[in-house]
Amino acid sequence: MAENCIFCKIIRGEIPSAKVYEDEYVLAFKDINPAAPVHVLVVPKQHIESLEALDEGNIQAVVPVHKAIQKVAELTGIKDKGYRVIVNCGSDAGQTVMHLHYHVLGGIKMGEKII
Ligand code: C5P
Repeated sequence: MAENCIFCKIIRGEIPSAKVYEDEYVLAFKDINPAAPVHVLVVPKQHIESLEALDEGNIQAVVPVHKAIQKVAELTGIKDKGYRVIVNCGSDAGQTVMHLHYHVLGGIKMGEKII
């Protein structure tokens, strides 16, 4: 846990969030500025700054995140039609919160892939 990290504060319940799913390792909550009808952030409870900060010592934290993404898709009704998962990593990608998080987007037919 990082003292001043906004997502750590959400995980600790110090800042409210619209929770979609939670287990021992993961919290998933609705993005406050949704970019799609379903836009959920799936966050490991362990404070990891970004995808680039993953290493041998913490990579296990993303396994429950991926399971939670499937759970979120089921709970939000987007599992059958499909969804997009985005991780912004670093400033060129537009990462604004330095706590690893996965954007799960769905509920609308999305446009062209950009990559
Ligand atoms: O990938 P990036 O770092 O830009 O994403 C951060 C996301 O966190 C934004 O989509 C923003 O709307 C969301 N956010 C939130 N609740 C907060 C602060 C940020 O949902 N309290």
